[in-house]
Amino acid sequence: MDHFEYQNGVLCAEDVPLGTIADAVGTPVYVYSRATLERHARAFKAGLAHLPKVHIAFAIKANPNLAVLKVMSREGLGADVVSGGELARALAAGMTGPDIVFSGVGKTAAEMVQGLEAGIGQFNIESEEEGIELAAIAAARGLRAVCALRVNPDVDARTHEKISTGKAENKFGVPIDRAAGIYTRLAVLPGIEMRGVAVHIGSQLQQLQPLEDAFIKLGELIAELRAGGQSVTHADLGGGLGVPYKAGDVFPSPAEYGAMVGRVCSQWDVTLMFEPGRVICGNAGVLLTRVIRVKRSSNGAPFVVVDAAMNDLARPAMYGAWHDIDAVVPSGSRMIANVVGPICETGDTFAMGRDIDALEAGDLAVFRTAGAYGATMASSYNSRGFVCEVMVDGAKFAVVADRILPAAITAAERVPEWLE
Ligand SMILES: *Cc1c(COP(=O)(O)O)cnc(C)c1O
Repeated sequence: MDHFEYQNGVLCAEDVPLGTIADAVGTPVYVYSRATLERHARAFKAGLAHLPKVHIAFAIKANPNLAVLKVMSREGLGADVVSGGELARALAAGMTGPDIVFSGVGKTAAEMVQGLEAGIGQFNIESEEEGIELAAIAAARGLRAVCALRVNPDVDARTHEKISTGKAENKFGVPIDRAAGIYTRLAVLPGIEMRGVAVHIGSQLQQLQPLEDAFIKLGELIAELRAGGQSVTHADLGGGLGVPYKAGDVFPSPAEYGAMVGRVCSQWDVTLMFEPGRVICGNAGVLLTRVIRVKRSSNGAPFVVVDAAMNDLARPAMYGAWHDIDAVVPSGSRMIANVVGPICETGDTFAMGRDIDALEAGDLAVFRTAGAYGATMASSYNSRGFVCEVMVDGAKFAVVADRILPAAITAAERVPEWLE
């Protein structure tokens, strides 16, 4: 459920007609709905409300915009960060150190120091090597890094291969059969406090079963660690809940997810931690675009060339992902079209042979469900600059990320003297 609906035949974000935003800031532009962000954050919290001790950290990589993070922070969510840049954003948005979890296989020494100095709540360490390095860095400063060990449970998340993270061959976590040994060895190092275990098996999951399989294995590991005399007070269950990109697709609700977690994990006697990203912000954004021209083809569907491209929304090019496409002011007629961007790559294709609202040059359209892994993956490929972002709140809206023009990017480049 989101707040992008037609009012009197015009697609609106909450109470703002999308044409108003296009007129004010141009296209392409990402448009986020504050009410939708809040609705999803609250639905996620409500789904877990029956569990005794819960910590929710919004996975910033899904949408790191400061205004989006501010909404999350006002909803009481912490942050799951995967870089020093994300850590700085979380702090800037008002999330406090203890509510921040730092994940990722490649934390640099500088990022570890940054996390320690911010007093973050938990480092999710992904290898014994990383744990040893972090312990040394913390000890040298007279500090202790609070850590969970991320395990790779070797389960198939049954999602796109590029966003599956819990198979043995993926780079994430330590093999679960070696986890107890690694945890025990790290726990004795000065500079480290091992307090828990973590898993995150992938993104855009459509079924709960792979998550349940992973959680069962994590529960067995907790029992094994405790039997060996280790203390385990936290279990981080990661993120991964998927969202429907196609009208009519059905995904598990936060309530169903919470019920499964309750069934599998309620006897663990730990604080259960969660790192939702997409499920909170995916449906809370659209990418608004304008049709540049419709290029008739001699045989088959015409090409609808829009002003958004793969540099603005990479998911279709990267994962073959589907985004529903709707006209902002539908005429009532339909067309079968190939929807493409202007970039000089065949991969810059949003849809082939798709049945969509009839579109003509100058018309506005949206790619729906673009609030997660959208603007954050943007690049300036083809020297197109960086896409602008807007947030709507009822009848008002504000630019929450300026469009970065190609000239600003060129201005950061230098031609060395010896080429002049
Ligand atoms: C990406 C990521 C998440 C969030 O995944 P979603 O599918 O957006 O919920 C959570 N935890 C970790 C460690 C991640 O890398």
